[in-house]
Amino acid sequence: MRRQWTTGDCWLWCEGTALPVLWLGPVLWEGGHAPLYACQRCIRRLESKVRGVLIRGASTSPAPERQQWAQGDCWLWCQRIALPTLLLGTAESAGHQVPLYSCEPCIQRLEDKVHAALPYVPA
Ligand SMILES: [Zn+2]
Ligand SMILES: [Zn+2]
Repeated sequence: MRRQWTTGDCWLWCEGTALPVLWLGPVLWEGGHAPLYACQRCIRRLESKVRGVLIRGASTSPAPERQQWAQGDCWLWCQRIALPTLLLGTAESAGHQVPLYSCEPCIQRLEDKVHAALPYVPA
């Protein structure tokens, strides 16, 4: 897949605005897809998480159509572990499809971002 840096807002941990960001992949969102962008620093952080997941032998090919709460680690801001998480979608990083899981408060936070970025998405 061809990737291009564009200027935009980082959707991951730093929450920076007007940065060079890369499209990571579509995140499943209320039956649709929302684009996920991240800056270089956060992509590095994601890649180190990815390596951790690969080392632990977790599946990197989830079935994103199945949205179910499952015990896991939140990949977003709170960084908590072993709590109910939902599969948000997959990002592409370091040549792997990476499942992105998040807890409910972080999903709410991302939802606010989605609605801010895509004002036409019905709330
Ligand atoms: Zn960032
Ligand atoms: Zn969280």
